[in-house]
Amino acid sequence: MNRVAIVTGGTRGIGKAICYELVKKGINVVVNYRKSDELANKIQEELGNMVRVYKADVSKREEVKGLVDFTLKEFGNIDILVNNAGIDQENMFQDITDDIWNNVINTNLYSVFCVTQEVLPTFLKNKKGCIINISSIYGISGGSCSTAYSASKAGIDGITKSLAKELGPSNIRVNSVAPGAINTDMNGYLTEDEWNQIKEETPMKKIGEGIDIARCVSWLVDDEFTTGQVISPNGGIVI
Ligand code: NAP
Repeated sequence: MNRVAIVTGGTRGIGKAICYELVKKGINVVVNYRKSDELANKIQEELGNMVRVYKADVSKREEVKGLVDFTLKEFGNIDILVNNAGIDQENMFQDITDDIWNNVINTNLYSVFCVTQEVLPTFLKNKKGCIINISSIYGISGGSCSTAYSASKAGIDGITKSLAKELGPSNIRVNSVAPGAINTDMNGYLTEDEWNQIKEETPMKKIGEGIDIARCVSWLVDDEFTTGQVISPNGGIVI
């Protein structure tokens, strides 16, 4: 029997690279997304029967329940959860409205709480499971004009560490992967000069791609002793 993964926010960027890498390993994947039907259909076409796509806003409990029920109905089990869905936020602190704050925290942080809670009964029943939360270097070092985003990502790392302690005895591992700057739509607003500056400040002198994060996730999926860690593929920009 193939292992089964749910990847939230799997239609673009880092999440998409993770889905393709997991399928390469022979893992069935449910690719979650919120809006991009066309991209989801293309992934379904390209990856065929190894995957199913499922539209759900992971900040909404009822839609998350639908995602988990669908996965169990289609593939009969869940072995791996990758909490990847997220949105960016770029405002001066004084300009963060309650709506912006709530949207970022609900999408990035509440979603991790909610999806994990809905998947956990299956992991406990199986007496094993692997949870990988995609956080960010901003959760470690902070980011100017990204207070809500940084708070959400630091919160994710808090969930990772606490849950790792709580769930270790149940043979469930929980880790964060905290990327540095990665070439995805999320950073589409950056100018060429800004990219060059990031590259210059990065010891490895390059910008990350989705695959750099997917490889780390792929390793964690097979590991059997790593838990409660925040692993940061970032080219050395945060050490
Ligand atoms: P991206 O290219 O903007 O893709 C985001 C994905 O998340 C899309 O598939 C999107 O679905 C989905 N999504 C957004 N809100 C959702 C919701 N409420 N429910 C379900 N799906 C939702 O982002 P990315 O750069 O790949 O980032 C992926 C993760 O890595 C995020 O958690 C981000 O914070 C983190 N990260 C990124 C970077 C970076 O430099 N890119 C650095 C550190 C951490 P639709 O396509 O339907 O909109």
